[in-house]
Amino acid sequence: MQEPAVAEVRTTCPYCGVGCGVLARVTPDGSVSVRGDPEHPANFGKLCSKGMALGETTGLEGRVLAPEIGGREASWDDALDLVARRFTDTVGRYGPDSVAFYVSGQLLTEDYYVANKLMKGFIGSANIDTNSRLCMASSVAGHRRAFGEDIVPGIYEDFEQADLVVLAGSNTAWCHPIIYQRLLAARRKRGTKIVVVDPRRTATAEEGDLHLAIDPGTDVLLFNGLLAHLARSNVIDESFVAGRTSGLAIALDAAAADAPSIESVAEGCGLNSGDVRLFYELFAATERSITVYSQGVNQSVHGTDKVNAIINCHLATGRIGRPGMGAFSVTGQPNAMGGREVGGLANQLAAHMSFESTQDIETVSRFWNAPNIARKAGLKAVDLFRAAGDGRVKALWIMGTNPAVSMPDAGRVRAALKACDFVVVSDIIRTDTTRFADVLLPAAGWGEKSGTVTNSERRISRQRPFLPLPGAARPDWKIVCDVARRMGYGHAFSFDGPAAIFREHAALSTYENAGERLFDIGAFAGVTEAEYDGFTPVCWPVSRDGASADRLFGDGCFPTADGRAFFVAVRQQSVAQAVDATRPISLNTGRLRDQWHTMTRTGRVPRLMSNAPEPLLEIAAEDAIRYELADGDLASVSSPYGLARAKVKVSSSQKPSSAFLPMHWSGQFAANAGAGPLATPLADAVSGQPELKHVPVKIVREEVA
Ligand code: SF4
Repeated sequence: MQEPAVAEVRTTCPYCGVGCGVLARVTPDGSVSVRGDPEHPANFGKLCSKGMALGETTGLEGRVLAPEIGGREASWDDALDLVARRFTDTVGRYGPDSVAFYVSGQLLTEDYYVANKLMKGFIGSANIDTNSRLCMASSVAGHRRAFGEDIVPGIYEDFEQADLVVLAGSNTAWCHPIIYQRLLAARRKRGTKIVVVDPRRTATAEEGDLHLAIDPGTDVLLFNGLLAHLARSNVIDESFVAGRTSGLAIALDAAAADAPSIESVAEGCGLNSGDVRLFYELFAATERSITVYSQGVNQSVHGTDKVNAIINCHLATGRIGRPGMGAFSVTGQPNAMGGREVGGLANQLAAHMSFESTQDIETVSRFWNAPNIARKAGLKAVDLFRAAGDGRVKALWIMGTNPAVSMPDAGRVRAALKACDFVVVSDIIRTDTTRFADVLLPAAGWGEKSGTVTNSERRISRQRPFLPLPGAARPDWKIVCDVARRMGYGHAFSFDGPAAIFREHAALSTYENAGERLFDIGAFAGVTEAEYDGFTPVCWPVSRDGASADRLFGDGCFPTADGRAFFVAVRQQSVAQAVDATRPISLNTGRLRDQWHTMTRTGRVPRLMSNAPEPLLEIAAEDAIRYELADGDLASVSSPYGLARAKVKVSSSQKPSSAFLPMHWSGQFAANAGAGPLATPLADAVSGQPELKHVPVKIVREEVA
């Protein structure tokens, strides 16, 4: 007899910020089968290599299946009691800022909401930061400076409606593959021009019509040069600028001082002046232009300035918020945007409200009935781990992330985890970080948990469960609420499921509470369980009648005090640490096509491993000669922060005096070969985002015994 068909569950991919819809089911033989959701507006049925392999990542090998205290299995009650007691005691003895949470863009919005509410509302500290700090914090800061609020104006359809797409610091082909496929399909139809700005000749750059291989850290100069060119070419939208913006004259003065001529820009960026001129003329002549940017822009000590240099060019031409026009930051993680919505960064409060406003603090305090609410920003990721290492933070809870590998200066982060009095880790799997846990808590994974995520175009989608919870695993929201109850805050954490949390999150995120801000999902404050179960993907803001706004700012209205967008005057500055005779190579780090973060899931899929089974240090042919290295040779790479070893790949993708090492590996997969120990913790003063795209290194050939 034929097995009955098992119903497919509509859910969302847990990897990148594209946020593709997935249809998943458990087959009669117990395996998990996935396919792209043809009805999801992000991907219309397509999945990339990582998404297609999702079914092979749900096995229980390596899973944390029971709570552990000091490495020994324990009951949930004992583990939760201990966590609550240690956090309560620490706050009692040393004050609220002696504890911290470090969370993740992998958490669902509901998980994020309760973690943020517990730390900021009830513990009374803003020491909650997220691995999204490493991913898009500079975009958040740039948006707030230019628009008054953290708003991504565009939607994915803009990729299909633009005539020019500038991809700045974004290897879209590998890191956001489905929107890249949408772009290529559009190019076949309308002949879209693609300009790629990236020091490396990536897979994306290979396909571009023009590749500008700028020197590391020179993005502000390139876009300041563009702004100055737009003014010289009389393509400033005078009416839009006069009516809808302020600050152009000062921004133009700064741009002109940086970039008196195309030749000076070319020289400063390490480019050919003909290529720079081509880019500028193309941008000036093409009304439907979008500039898409990602980690290559954000991960810099001047990342916020880079973001504003890009936005300035779109404001100057009025090319924002209309079909095929705008500056578009794409997020790296599946729910980086959801974390921003709930305020899950140390310098945010909640629901796009801010510590800079006393009124916002009072609003949230009243809404949560939390008189003890934090009143100032907390420690951002790099500073948070520093504080854990020097004793200022004495109790740290890490949720769903692996900072022992992924943080810059990872050696110092490991030392901090070792030194910290009390470390809690909740995760699905054992990682380099779980080794430091005094208490280890088994969390629910993808396919087991239920909630919402928001992708790069502000589209909220559901993650739905289709697998039973394994062992004693519990959803993150429940673990946080159980600890909150034990700390005496049960009245504020009595949620019976993610729908109840979502309702409260929506009720806080309204015009009534947040004033003139655009982030409004108040329409969902009364969703029933059935409506939450059947939730269809929608971009915020959502009006009271349920209508969703797609592009924002098309009407020229911005959520600032006077309704105008701001030009931010920015100047080109150098990277944090320049190369020198001791460390003459600029090391860049980034993702590979088939891997995700520290490979705790994708590293278990043989077909994803097969293309790049080990980390390779990519160097230019000129440097291979200089250091007497060839393909397959072992090299040691040392930065001011640490040492790694990797095999060499001589690559035409690299400019001389530059190198690339993937971010994914750790001691778990290849001894001492990850980029984390090498990367600099020096960070943007505004956003706190570290400069993961450049650190000076020395490369030495290693003799194999
Ligand atoms: Fe998942 Fe991103 Fe691939 Fe879509 S593009 S399937 S969200 S990894």
